[in-house]
Amino acid sequence: MSTVSIIVPCYNESESLPIFYREAAKILNSLDEEYELIFVNDGSSDDTLSQLRELSNKDNHVVYLSFSRNFGKEAAMFAGFCNSSGDYVAVMDADLQDPPALLPDMLKILKSGEYDSVATRRTSRAGEPPIRSWFAKRFYQLINRISDADIVDGARDFRLMKRDMVEAIIAMNEYNRFSKGIFGWVGFRTYWLPYENMERIAGKTKWNFWKLMKYAVDGIISFSQAPLSIASCFGIMMTVCSFLFLILIIARRLMFGDPVAGWASTICVIIFIGGLQLLCIGIIGQYLAKTYMETKHRPHYIISESNKKSIDKIR
Ligand code: UDP
Ligand code: MG
Repeated sequence: MSTVSIIVPCYNESESLPIFYREAAKILNSLDEEYELIFVNDGSSDDTLSQLRELSNKDNHVVYLSFSRNFGKEAAMFAGFCNSSGDYVAVMDADLQDPPALLPDMLKILKSGEYDSVATRRTSRAGEPPIRSWFAKRFYQLINRISDADIVDGARDFRLMKRDMVEAIIAMNEYNRFSKGIFGWVGFRTYWLPYENMERIAGKTKWNFWKLMKYAVDGIISFSQAPLSIASCFGIMMTVCSFLFLILIIARRLMFGDPVAGWASTICVIIFIGGLQLLCIGIIGQYLAKTYMETKHRPHYIISESNKKSIDKIR
């Protein structure tokens, strides 16, 4: 018999948690495998933590790790991976957008031995604002073109993996974590399981348009150096152009003695080049900021409370 670990990041999920637990426990009990349900309380301000304490008293499959503050979903998933012991490990949302009913099939696929991971992707973006879908599509096209993180459009974080893959993910110790990219980067044989998009069962999503935008920029910066190359290309192009322009001006001066040059065009060129320089400095700044955070070697998360004794409290 093998062991399955299910990692569930929870941030203010008191409304969805009881429904999720009921559903997940029903499916997991029917699996005929050992399992642990690892809930990571990501600094919730509602009563998520007290609900988790209660659940862990009632059910000894339940492990909870409670952060000292909100560290974000990426940190919550990382803490789950670091403190999981299963031969098979899954990550899923607490809002039933990742249906636990898929778990038996996912496990069967892994046990057949051909794959190391079963990942899910939603086939539709129903219920999402069209502008968000449009930006999401462009993001996936762009990041796949300019990076070696292989990301499928509509991919969710919901996936079941074998232990080897989980160890590889833990070994990627970077501070700026972008799991969608990390899952692709480590490789392994992945089976993609499509399913219809589900609406959140209760509570509210933690994302808004600008947070998603920042997430996209972080993803690109974490997995691609293309923006830096583009900035350098601009620089080279501008240098060549200005050199040609200089030759033109000298030639004109020598041949025609043309003394008056346009003020407006000069200002335009100055503003254009100034803007371009600021853009390129901004791009470099983004990378520098990430490098700065990496060099500090701050912990990814701090656990202030748990019902499990032997855990990595700070990592
Ligand atoms: N989450 C978290 N920390 C955060 C934000 C979200 O642990 O700072 C959890 C949240 O509780 C949920 C999952 O991450 O279980 C996905 O969040 P959400 O449902 O808001 O995202 P969406 O499904 O809309 O992409
Ligand atoms: Mg959700």
